[in-house]
Amino acid sequence: MRLWGTCIVRIPADRRTDDEKSDGRADEKAGDESARRRILDWGTTVGYHKCLMNHHEKGHHANRNVFGRQVEPLQRGIVIDFRSMRSLAVLNQSITECRKCPRLVDHREAIARMKRKQYRDWMYWGRPVPAFGDPSARLFIIGLAPAAHGGNRTGRIFTGDRSGDWLYEALHRYGFANQPHSIHKDDGLALKDCYIAAVVRCAPPDNKPTPDEFDCCRPYLIEELRLLKKVRVIVTLGKIAFDQYLKACRELGHDLPSPALRFGHGVIYRLSWGATLIGSYHPSQQNTFTGKLTTSMFHGVFERARAVLSDASEGGNVDEGADLHTPRRSRPPGQRINLGGGRSSRRGTS
Ligand code: SF4
Repeated sequence: MRLWGTCIVRIPADRRTDDEKSDGRADEKAGDESARRRILDWGTTVGYHKCLMNHHEKGHHANRNVFGRQVEPLQRGIVIDFRSMRSLAVLNQSITECRKCPRLVDHREAIARMKRKQYRDWMYWGRPVPAFGDPSARLFIIGLAPAAHGGNRTGRIFTGDRSGDWLYEALHRYGFANQPHSIHKDDGLALKDCYIAAVVRCAPPDNKPTPDEFDCCRPYLIEELRLLKKVRVIVTLGKIAFDQYLKACRELGHDLPSPALRFGHGVIYRLSWGATLIGSYHPSQQNTFTGKLTTSMFHGVFERARAVLSDASEGGNVDEGADLHTPRRSRPPGQRINLGGGRSSRRGTS
């Protein structure tokens, strides 16, 4: 494995530095503004940069950014936290190589070998599915695990399955995604102000990871919470994700409120560390086919997420630079806030 290397990329002529103009080389440094632009804006002129990408992934330089996504006009010129981006890229690389849970490794690879008939021409991913999205996101969405023939096939979270159709349609509607569909890794999807992960990164048998497997995978979620410094709102899809997020926060050093927070669809909690937690039923077919989760209920979650983020930026009541997941023990315990009628439930969903 090689995470860093000097690679040939295409850089717009007007963005080349004096060094590049003289010999085509650029020594990029973390945190350097021009380096960010050179990485994000692929142009037409050949130059060099130090690359963060997984060099095993064929063709990653062709119109792709450092996360392997095709670069859309939407993404050009955006400024992101280069250090977080680098760390998240390294973390995602570690995740995709993880083999800590023997049962899940066997299962994900068996699914990739056997395949579903309609996808027999696909080369299944068959590995842990990393998180996906905008490293500067203020909205963090946490799901349960990749679907056997969704993320485990395509290699991108919530991609190629019905749950993803629901999720990305809602994200597009509320301005967090540039398109409403998510079919395969190279479909041009880009998230804005939003990052998506799962509490378990490998497709589990019957969608049911064991307690040990949750424990084994939770360090990745904890690391993401540390690295996503701008996160203000967390949407958890299902009770398991809700509970695992709170466990991760406790392991980060936060004091959880007592009595314990109750999961329900639409519940909103302002947590003692300043983050807002919104519970949602998971958009699994088990919930959407039975009418337990309707489109309007699901849209309501992202409408509230958008409203909280807008209030935070307009009201100036949140320090945009603060890292909320760094423990601050002086704050009052978590309180439920009233931003709309949510339903509360003790029953879990996927
Ligand atoms: S579930 Fe998580 S910890 Fe277990 S093998 Fe997959 S990535 Fe590794």
